Amino acid sequence: MRQPLVAGNWKLNGSREMVDTLLSELTTALGDGVTAEVAVCPPFVYLQDASRALGGTDIVLGAQDVCAEDEGAFTGEVSAPMLRDVGCRYIIVGHSERRSLYHESDEWVARKFAAVLRSGLTPILCVGESLEERNAGVTEAVVARQLEAVVEQVGAEVMGDCVVAYEPVWAIGTGLTATPEQAQSVHAYLRSRLRAVGAAADQTRLLYGGSVKPDNAAQLFAMPDIDGGLIGGASLQAETFLAICRAA
Ligand code: 13P
Repeated sequence: MRQPLVAGNWKLNGSREMVDTLLSELTTALGDGVTAEVAVCPPFVYLQDASRALGGTDIVLGAQDVCAEDEGAFTGEVSAPMLRDVGCRYIIVGHSERRSLYHESDEWVARKFAAVLRSGLTPILCVGESLEERNAGVTEAVVARQLEAVVEQVGAEVMGDCVVAYEPVWAIGTGLTATPEQAQSVHAYLRSRLRAVGAAADQTRLLYGGSVKPDNAAQLFAMPDIDGGLIGGASLQAETFLAICRAA
């Protein structure tokens, strides 16, 4: 059985005050009907404060990105060993905002994924097609390419312990959610690709991300290959994030 995971990606949002208030609201209410694993991914500068706030609670910490290198002359970067040092368990790699705004290639994302594994942490690999790609009928080809670039780099054996998030670019921050059937179809395809390369595909947790809200979360999470969610905007408020966590 795959334990559902709900991870909040704060993106470029937050403050020390928000770390204090939101995390204390979440930790206080979490025991209440939540069986999913819950993670929050604040910006780098708040990870240490968040780590202290979450110490001894069931909420785990994640980072939004990482350097592909472990140390050295890479000004401005943050490495996986550093993220492990401050208490992270998960690291998101290949978010579509990184791919499109910062031109991260599939190969670059795969190197980051490998860096996360080297440090003993768990990568959350984001994959997903743009609206043009969906309309052109190449959704499966796009997500397969993104997934297989990573498998080529790290091997299939490790993929059972990793997390993959399907985030259709057209659904991110737009209020347009993939229907449960659309999302399930891509998730089932991703699992079949993982199986085809020899991964322990039934263990890999596959999250859906893209305008998940309290009113659509339960239907999405009820699909057989959707093992939780990667939540942007709705993770910034305790009430909405908790409602989504309860739905998983
Ligand atoms: P929204 O939930 O704001 O659409 O963002 C999804 C996302 O990109 C999570 O990584």
